[in-house]
Amino acid sequence: MARVYNFSAGPAMLPEEVLKRAAAEMLDYHGSGQSVMEMSHRSAVFQGIIDQAEQDIRDLMGIPDNYEVLFLQGGASQQFAMIPMNIMKHRKAAYIITGNWAKKAWQEAQRYGDAVAVASSADQTFSYIPDCSDLPIPEDADYVYICQNNTIYGTTYHKLPNTKGHVLVSDVSSCFLSEPVRVEDYGIIYGGVQKNVGPAGMVISIIRKDLIPEEPAVENTPTMLRFKTHADAHSLYNTPPCWTIYVCGLVFQWLKEMGGLSVMKERNEKKAKLLYDFLDQSSLFHGTVRPQDRSLMNVPFVTGDKEMDAAFVAEAERNGLVNIKGHRSVGGMRASIYNAMPYEGVAKLVEFMDRFEKEHR
Ligand SMILES: *Cc1c(COP(=O)(O)O)cnc(C)c1O
Repeated sequence: MARVYNFSAGPAMLPEEVLKRAAAEMLDYHGSGQSVMEMSHRSAVFQGIIDQAEQDIRDLMGIPDNYEVLFLQGGASQQFAMIPMNIMKHRKAAYIITGNWAKKAWQEAQRYGDAVAVASSADQTFSYIPDCSDLPIPEDADYVYICQNNTIYGTTYHKLPNTKGHVLVSDVSSCFLSEPVRVEDYGIIYGGVQKNVGPAGMVISIIRKDLIPEEPAVENTPTMLRFKTHADAHSLYNTPPCWTIYVCGLVFQWLKEMGGLSVMKERNEKKAKLLYDFLDQSSLFHGTVRPQDRSLMNVPFVTGDKEMDAAFVAEAERNGLVNIKGHRSVGGMRASIYNAMPYEGVAKLVEFMDRFEKEHR
């Protein structure tokens, strides 16, 4: 068996221990005689799986009781609409534009109200996080929206914006469970799971209960797009993605066994430092992000020469380092080094980059 180091931005690597356990439990989950993929979402066995998954993510993130944890479908992209449809009561919200995902969320919100862009880093290809200490946030804005870790551009907020008392809504798809967070600082914190948590097919939305309206802000919001529908039914209004919930649950248990989110943060910092330190001394490769805004999860870099970049990507693949091509809007390379990427994977990459540099100088 030859497993590769997969640097994809998502779907991404899962911990090998989790894959092995899922494989071992595939044919007969805990004596039920069936796999989780086959069982009823109304069965007691599955209820146990979803309850345990919710408890484990609550423990990991320290989610207070006044927050709902919803397991939803439609990906992170569906939240771009669900959030304004449910909570944009005054039909106004402030958006901070730090990349494609923030921009998509902002554009979607414009369908439902006045989504105001209060800051942007588009002027320098989203290579930095704007100063968010004193933004012109409208008084009557229902929330301030950020994309906390910018998967494509490789920037991250090392400090949350000053929302001037407004509710903060954050898309954490590509930094979910990568380090401790203070859930209390957010009104909604949500992410698609296929980047740093589990298999594709689910978004987890953690919502302060008082923000879940009896009636959504937008009239005629479909039943399936109402937060209340899913909160009342504890994420079992209709058939949920049972398999994805189960594997995410295994990942939560793995994270607990690893020592929790502060241990993950240390590991992630160590991995990222290895790569950034190499980039900072390299004469061939350059990081594209302002150093103080660098992400621990997604590391874009270039040589400045398209053919050289392409040669690097192809040769990396032959060496078992796959999916390292950058997003088409940045070019070059991007190494996504989520929780499940072992330190050895990053060490292999740096070793390979060093060799490639010496051969191509
Ligand atoms: C990948 C990604 C999305 C889109 O996720 P889908 O689940 O495919 O809709 C949104 N936001 C961020 C930050 C992402 O990285």
